[in-house]
Amino acid sequence: MPLPVIPPELLAKYDAPGPRYTSYPPVPDWTGGVDETVYRTALASLGNGDLALYVHLPFCASRCLYCGCTATVTTRAQVVDQYLARLERELRMVTDAVGRAPVLRELHWGGGTPNFLDDAQIRRAFGLIAQAFTLADDIECSVEADPRLVTPSQLATLRALGFDRISFGVQDLDPIVQEGIGRVQPVGMVRTVVDQARAAGFRSLNVDVIYGLPHQSVTSFRDTIDEVIALNPDRIACFGYAHVPWIRPHQRRMDEQALPDRALRFELYQLAVERFTDAGYVWIGLDHFARPDDELARAADEGRLHRDFMGYTTRQSRNLIGVGVSAIGEVGDYFIQNFAHLGEWQRAVDAGLLPVTRGHKLTAEDRARGRAIRELLCNSHLDRALLPDDDGSTLDAFRAFEADGLVLIGERAITVTPTGRFFLRNLAMALDAYRKPQLGTEAPRFSRTV
Ligand code: SF4
Repeated sequence: MPLPVIPPELLAKYDAPGPRYTSYPPVPDWTGGVDETVYRTALASLGNGDLALYVHLPFCASRCLYCGCTATVTTRAQVVDQYLARLERELRMVTDAVGRAPVLRELHWGGGTPNFLDDAQIRRAFGLIAQAFTLADDIECSVEADPRLVTPSQLATLRALGFDRISFGVQDLDPIVQEGIGRVQPVGMVRTVVDQARAAGFRSLNVDVIYGLPHQSVTSFRDTIDEVIALNPDRIACFGYAHVPWIRPHQRRMDEQALPDRALRFELYQLAVERFTDAGYVWIGLDHFARPDDELARAADEGRLHRDFMGYTTRQSRNLIGVGVSAIGEVGDYFIQNFAHLGEWQRAVDAGLLPVTRGHKLTAEDRARGRAIRELLCNSHLDRALLPDDDGSTLDAFRAFEADGLVLIGERAITVTPTGRFFLRNLAMALDAYRKPQLGTEAPRFSRTV
């Protein structure tokens, strides 16, 4: 795919902190006022539509220095058993509040490292879910996995339970980068694990890659990309590294001097787009790539792509229940998040309370703006009818984007240009009522948009 040449001034202008918009409003802007009682009431009103469950399994064998997840490092298997016992209580509280065993159409295990669990713990965790919910015949089960901990029997166990999508955290395959980020996993190991997952019968295989990590160079990242292409995954998520040490202090343990500067970071992003698309992958939204016959690519092609807390998905209208420490959900008109601190989550569950720490009640305006932002991030296109009904300031902001070559404003729709595609988060910020209108005035609560 031919890439636009982006002048350094344009890059500098749009290199500002901004949300990734897996929800609107983004979590730091939630207004609160959602407690246990409100969540129970929302659960009690749950309809019969599509329902997804996210289970957070926070344990990891060691801390990767770039990590932005809620993770607990441990070597003790009994900690997992104690966690699963509390998860059972939380699941029971959820389904008691719903008043029935609702039908589950999607199940996702994230972390942390879900495959920190041994085979017996995996079976137990799945059994708890199967006990609490009615699993739809066509349920889609997906799991994140750390290649360093994968065993053939673990893959067989997951497959036997019905997991058919697996996502491996690869991030970067260069030994110097891996050393610098505290995550050493030789390419031979990754190849073996991918082969084992295929042999086990996983239908869909995703690989996560990160650009913007310390010590990455164009040459080293090109090698990583080419190795990833050779693995032939169905999907690739290529995220920009979010350096947020004020939220994740362990990130300071990396060599910050070795972080790519703005120009190099952007070059790595463009390199990924160029090589993955040249290899036949379809570029989806901000940072995903999929084989043209993959469901995600087909959904993008047909304008059915959706974005929520789980990233890009193909299912549009559904409720999402999150269980486990830090898990996020969307039920009815509410966003809900569990305590992110393990001790607080444990104390709430032990006290017989749904472990809600915060939430947000979606207003009609939130829904309208969220829809417009999703349209932009999923389809690189915005029907002008979806622009907020304001004093014209949003359209003015898009006129300024047009002057910079990021969009074309037509009579009925705004279309993102090939240059604008690299600044989707900035474009979305113009639709966000919680953001200050001037670029560069955002407090550093978010990662960089570029
Ligand atoms: S394995 Fe994943 S969740 Fe665990 S520390 Fe590393 S990046 Fe974080």
